[in-house]
Amino acid sequence: MKKMIKAVGLACALMFTAGVGTAHADAQHPKIGFSIDDLRLERWARDRDYFTAAADKLGAKVYVQSADASEQRQIAQIENLISRGVDVLVIVPYNATVLNNAIREAKKAKIKVVSYDRLILNADVDAYVSFDNKAVGELQAQSLVALKPKGNYYLLGGAPTDNNAKILREGQMKVLQPLVDKGDIKIVGKQWVKDWSASEAMAIVENALTANGNKIDAVVASNDGTAGGAIQALAAQKLTGKVAVSGQDADLAAVRRVIAGTQTMTVYKPLREIASTAASVAVQLVRNQKPAYNAQLDNGFKKVDSVLLKPIMLNKANVDLLVKDGFYTQAQLAGK
Ligand code: BGC
Repeated sequence: MKKMIKAVGLACALMFTAGVGTAHADAQHPKIGFSIDDLRLERWARDRDYFTAAADKLGAKVYVQSADASEQRQIAQIENLISRGVDVLVIVPYNATVLNNAIREAKKAKIKVVSYDRLILNADVDAYVSFDNKAVGELQAQSLVALKPKGNYYLLGGAPTDNNAKILREGQMKVLQPLVDKGDIKIVGKQWVKDWSASEAMAIVENALTANGNKIDAVVASNDGTAGGAIQALAAQKLTGKVAVSGQDADLAAVRRVIAGTQTMTVYKPLREIASTAASVAVQLVRNQKPAYNAQLDNGFKKVDSVLLKPIMLNKANVDLLVKDGFYTQAQLAGK
């Protein structure tokens, strides 16, 4: 394991020797280090592309790293970006709670730090840019409740290492708790899904179906990947379309499931917006300008200045929005 970390560190060092100088800030052409949890997932690859395009327009250069869901690799990559002299780090943390040392190093080197989509906890971050995750959770629960106002609900949470997973659950429970108190809804089980893994989600829902004699009316899945796993488990019991399932991200496969009626809804988060907002916040921080924040979130270390964007509920009735917005083509949605 140690060897692997060393190798990754070395590879990064070699990669960057050519590109990034060690001298600090030409504010007209800031250098941004973008450390992403996992570029292998559809969503984050889009974030990278939109972010790089937006930064480019602002005169900045972006150095992208993917930690591929490894906290050691992410720390090594961040340390490398620091030693290579970036002006600002934009980070999608894999594990919200393990980056404080790396960030302390960044701050010592006068590098600004922006937390992207997921809040980094217990660390001195300068800004947070995300969607309103509590609202995402509310949209998920509201859509399920509209379809299944009564019945047995299973809560399929996100990764326990991701602060968003907890905020989503808060939003979901804000809608569900009053119905639980009234006796309309019963929560028959709940589980966090390690690394947001679809296969883990499938195994969890298989077990939940067995434990409840298939009597589950709704699965509150926190994103599309885990919804996909849940729906595979439902399919094995011939329950697809009968059990309401939520999601998030408007992944292509999920939108097709929404059209087919096997997934109730997804949440569309226009990624171009978060990416371009984060790019301009990062550049503004380097230029000592004040970004337009609209919220503050406590990360255990401080109240972090934040920009929270508005998520959009998406079901069969309004999927066309994705085509209008240029997120997908009609042909993609039709599976051609
Ligand atoms: C993001 C979701 C994403 C999930 C898994 C969350 O932090 O907000 O959009 O589906 O991570 O990558």
